[in-house]
Amino acid sequence: MDPGPHLQRFASVPKAELHLHLEGSIQPRTVVALTARHGVTMTETDVRMKYAYENFLGFLEAFKWVTSFLREPQDYALITRDLGEHLLAQGVVYAEITLSIGIMLWRKQSVETNFEAILGAANALASRGLQMKFVFDAVRQFGTDAAMDVVEAAHLCNSESIVAFGIGGDELSIPTEHFRPIYYRASEIGLRRLMHAGETGGPAKIRESIELLGAERIGHGIAAINDPRLMDFLAERQIPLEICPQSNLRTGALALQLSRPDACIEDHPLPQLLRHGIPIVLSTDDPAMFHTTLLDEYENVRRMGLTDDEISCLTQMSFTHAFALTP
Ligand SMILES: [Zn+2]
Repeated sequence: MDPGPHLQRFASVPKAELHLHLEGSIQPRTVVALTARHGVTMTETDVRMKYAYENFLGFLEAFKWVTSFLREPQDYALITRDLGEHLLAQGVVYAEITLSIGIMLWRKQSVETNFEAILGAANALASRGLQMKFVFDAVRQFGTDAAMDVVEAAHLCNSESIVAFGIGGDELSIPTEHFRPIYYRASEIGLRRLMHAGETGGPAKIRESIELLGAERIGHGIAAINDPRLMDFLAERQIPLEICPQSNLRTGALALQLSRPDACIEDHPLPQLLRHGIPIVLSTDDPAMFHTTLLDEYENVRRMGLTDDEISCLTQMSFTHAFALTP
């Protein structure tokens, strides 16, 4: 997207981002460097072709492919530096970054060693004005034992930079209530609670995440638009939805939730949810894989018709709902 003059000015406004995945943030240039480390020669065009898909399953396949090259701790350090540079260029001063610990464990990697490398890269970025905190994320369809292993990995890493536990992946797989003991344990060791819900699943997935698991913010949650009572509930409880418009468009989640195959960004329900009094934290999800940036997302909400005041309010809410903002 071509940045207009207002966007360029907006780049210097300090911003926070609360829903983005490290492994979905690897820019094509860095993917080329990463695959070369492991003996696979690719061009940026090849990577862009891998990053082109039309639905959620296609996206999951591409995610699996790119993460297959994350084999050594230094690979994680490389992509953390890459993401840090990208965020600094967007004027981001605070970010909560989701790490696919479920995938690391599934590949039998040492979470402690990988996390140490990530933290080393993050510490170097802190001196340049970017505070990075981390969310340990499990893969829903891998099951409850694997999710508990993610919580225990956070416990072992024993770092105040790990602020939350969450679950992503296929929300239609394992029933929400099965994860109760896992969220109980996460809370017991001092982690805040997150859940991807209401992206491809219905509104019930959102309500269950809050009532059964104590989720404090919801990843996506756009299905709420189909349930007025749930919208009231989210507004009363002030539970933020982490909304990622471009991601919703690219995965087909927007078309699915609106039951309109031709849904475009202007049709996104973000304005209605915000004007209903639900806190919204605007995010990019997987910026490299969805061909977006935080500045592009601010341009997207402008296209949805948000006023300047509403956009300022959005910027502020990402700070208000951060888990570990230190002055
Ligand atoms: Zn996500």
